Amino acid sequence: MHLLALLIAVAPTPAPAAAQPAGPTPADAKAFVVKVNEDLLKLWTRQSTAEWIKSTYITDDTERNAAAVDEDVMQYLGNAVKEAAKFRTLKGLDPDVERSLNLLRFTQVLPAPSDPLKREALATIKARLEGAYGKGKWCGRDDDAKKDDKKACKDLQALSAVLAKGGKYDEQLEAWEGWHTISRDMRKDYARLVELSNEGAKELGFQNVGELWRAGYDMSAPDFERETDRLWNQVKPLYDDLHCYVRAQLSKKYGAEKVPLSGPIPAHLLGNMWAQEWGNIYPLVEPYKGQTSLDVTAALRRQKFDEVKLVRLGESFFTSLGMDPLPQSFWERSQFKKPQDRDVVCHASAWDVTYSNDLRIKMCIKIDEEDLVTVHHELGHDYYYMNYFKLPVLFQNGANDGFHEAIGDALTLSITPST
Ligand SMILES: [Zn+2]
Repeated sequence: MHLLALLIAVAPTPAPAAAQPAGPTPADAKAFVVKVNEDLLKLWTRQSTAEWIKSTYITDDTERNAAAVDEDVMQYLGNAVKEAAKFRTLKGLDPDVERSLNLLRFTQVLPAPSDPLKREALATIKARLEGAYGKGKWCGRDDDAKKDDKKACKDLQALSAVLAKGGKYDEQLEAWEGWHTISRDMRKDYARLVELSNEGAKELGFQNVGELWRAGYDMSAPDFERETDRLWNQVKPLYDDLHCYVRAQLSKKYGAEKVPLSGPIPAHLLGNMWAQEWGNIYPLVEPYKGQTSLDVTAALRRQKFDEVKLVRLGESFFTSLGMDPLPQSFWERSQFKKPQDRDVVCHASAWDVTYSNDLRIKMCIKIDEEDLVTVHHELGHDYYYMNYFKLPVLFQNGANDGFHEAIGDALTLSITPST
């Protein structure tokens, strides 16, 4: 309770009739949003700086540092979202104020409970899980024999390379299963992470964190589910045909006992750890053999592409559309290559670390078609940031979580290197 409210509550004489309206006004709401944007710019800059350092140098210290900043951000946002609720039903709000108040509810992917101990636990667990994922290595089935032999251990990048190559069923199965052993130690932390963020989401008025995620698309969560089903059903006939065809080709290659002609395709045969991109196995399933095809990976290697040249090619796609070149700091601050001397998060991502055109990508680039596509996708995020960094920080992200991803993937349909 505010001190002022306390004084009024114990005032011996009835308060005189207020000349001002009792509740908050649209002007109060506007001032609140301005202040939140100022505060969040500072807090988020601290947060993404700590995140950047942690993701490019995973140690106990960088994890603890990032978790501490995370806690501050969670605390601030927890309070701000509750305060914003006072303004959201006001009539006569400026459209941008109304939009900001609404966006504020969805800025936390994992909202923390207001209990400080639980908030601290959530921040710590989150950093620890990210660290475990980035550091994860598979050292073979016979751990005891090999645990001192570092060379026998493979990280996500090395295991992904085994899957990408294709053609060796048992090796791929071992790589896939090996990588998935990393998650066993994460199980307990992950379950607690879900519990805590569900609790945080409930405090914000959602049933759980899943509902919060589904509610951030300018429609209700149930409407979003219906819309997703509608879109999926449009694509499904094509997906079913493609799945059936790829399964039949893989069955020819590996035998029907390993790839039965009905049912799911084993995930380790699709060339990607998450079975989400199938481009790597194109040579195995190519429909019209002997016809000229674009072997993008071979062209990149023939033309002696390195990491920087690959990113330059990506940049040239955007400048060819009339956009500005990337800032010089991008080239100085990005991580293109996996460092040899420390653990990093290789999962590709795009950043504006200080929300001021401080663009970067963080990748462990391989010279192949998959990463050519990924570079363009990540630069799609960065070019969005480049065009939005002058806006209030709440408006610097895409209209919703899917927006950037869709833009990034749509533009990659238009790229090929010259041959
Ligand atoms: Zn993306």
